[in-house]
Amino acid sequence: MSENHTHFIKHIVTKDMEEGSYEEIVTRFPPEPNGYLHIGHAKSIVLNFELADEFGGRTNLRFDDTNPLKEDKEYVDAILEDIHWLGFEPEAVRYASNYFDEMYRQAVRLIERGLAYVEDLSQEEIREMRGTLTEAGKESPSRSRSIEENLELFEQMKQGEFGDGEKVLRAKIDMSSPNINLRDPVLYRISHTEHHNTGSDWCIYPMYSFAHPLEDAIEGVTHSICTLEFEDQRPLYDWVVEHAELDGEPKQIEFARLNLTNTVMSKRKLKQLVDENYVDGWDDPRMPTISGLRRRGFTPESIKQFCREIGVSKADNLVDVRMLEHFLREDLKLKAPRTMAVLDPLKVVITNYPEGEVEWLPADINPENEEMGTREIPFSREIYIEREDFMEDPPKKYFRLYPGNEVRIKHAYFIKCHDVIKDENGEITEIHCTYDPETKSGSGFTGRKVKGTLHYVDASEAVPAEFRLYDSLIDDEAAGDSFLDHVNASSLKVQHGFVEPNMKNVQPHDKFQFFRHGYFNVDPKDSTSEKLVFNRVVGLKSSFKL
Ligand code: ATP
Ligand code: MG
Ligand code: MG
Repeated sequence: MSENHTHFIKHIVTKDMEEGSYEEIVTRFPPEPNGYLHIGHAKSIVLNFELADEFGGRTNLRFDDTNPLKEDKEYVDAILEDIHWLGFEPEAVRYASNYFDEMYRQAVRLIERGLAYVEDLSQEEIREMRGTLTEAGKESPSRSRSIEENLELFEQMKQGEFGDGEKVLRAKIDMSSPNINLRDPVLYRISHTEHHNTGSDWCIYPMYSFAHPLEDAIEGVTHSICTLEFEDQRPLYDWVVEHAELDGEPKQIEFARLNLTNTVMSKRKLKQLVDENYVDGWDDPRMPTISGLRRRGFTPESIKQFCREIGVSKADNLVDVRMLEHFLREDLKLKAPRTMAVLDPLKVVITNYPEGEVEWLPADINPENEEMGTREIPFSREIYIEREDFMEDPPKKYFRLYPGNEVRIKHAYFIKCHDVIKDENGEITEIHCTYDPETKSGSGFTGRKVKGTLHYVDASEAVPAEFRLYDSLIDDEAAGDSFLDHVNASSLKVQHGFVEPNMKNVQPHDKFQFFRHGYFNVDPKDSTSEKLVFNRVVGLKSSFKL
């Protein structure tokens, strides 16, 4: 991170280091393995890893797997892969569930010191008695239980002697606190559920707000960065840190979540899109998941640069997805080979070109980066151009091909249309042109000028390919909870056309800029040497300005 990426959290850490509050900065990225990571998580990953790195500290990856119901090994594996792909290596990989023994011990110690009690009331009753912002809470009869009785009941909870919801463990803090989170919050609940990591060892599980500060303290985390919705929980976080018998003294710092236009940014909602088959899995190229962005063709660098540039603040924000696209173009501009693809082919027969002859013409691989060298592309009597590059009755100012008009074929010759061939339905099947050998590209010909340049693929050597063109998944900028009513029915358009012969051996994730069409990625799942499949990552231009 450079100087121009400074932000309020960096200021806090700088001050802490200057004052000697901590010897070393330790951060963590704590995903709950209940879904795949999305670009919002990438923001948190970049923030945590790069912040610690800048101060010579370290960052743990910690799976926050304290809720056995929604968590799964598939998600653990996907999260590991995504973080690695982004280019970050955690100092350690931990599981909150590894700390269940320690958390239990801390809970017992709270009971022994009169700081926690077992509650018999139902969730509903607890909520009712908790009061409101204007009305103090009421103390529960369970609050006055003896330490001995609490210890015994908590042990019985652990032994499985009660059903789900029959008892909970609560912190004894203050039922009249102005912060409702401090009105004797629940610390442990009963759930007779198999856990993906601890199996059936436990039937009581710690609540997030108790577990999280303990996990941070156990790992020696110094700055526990989370999103704004946890701001109200900070006094409870501090209470747990203060009363836990652990050395760590982490502090919680909140920042605003990333929201992107025309998509949803919550694992729950993304899971719904997957489960209800709106998309083809978590890694569908339309998804804002890391795996979806990867398959679409976004690069780690483009995602990281986006995360750095959007900044870190306390104000909720909705970021234009075109900003992410901007960074992809920036990253690939000089790296991606430029090549020609015809997505919607129309055959052109060059009637004065010798039959059976093929010539190979030199073309730069990337005119903005000469170091990439040149390639050779074929040209012969039959070529393909885009169907939209020909019109029989063009409007004014149409500079592409039409009867009687001459255009340049990129890297090749000028051609002029003299005939249009149609089938019995009146559909144009091919057009006939002549070429002028004197106009060969690179020959220095200046005899006359043409206004249009068309890209092409030689028909004799063309490699067939499928092109997948994407549009927004959600057709509303900020759809919120009604997102399912706004799923864009035409977010995927498939076309079948051709690419240059030198594309025959492309590999999954190879990236190209197709002349006029934008940046494309070889689809890692569906592309084979028999049937190439390219995903359009982004188009070439956008009105978006940084
Ligand atoms: P979701 O609603 O998508 O499930 P979450 O916050 O519940 O999000 P976690 O697995 O708990 O997901 O997130 C791990 C970390 O990533 C947390 O520190 C969380 O604050 C952060 N995070 C999640 N979503 C975003 C986002 N949109 N922007 C920034 N950080 C995020
Ligand atoms: Mg969540
Ligand atoms: Mg969470």
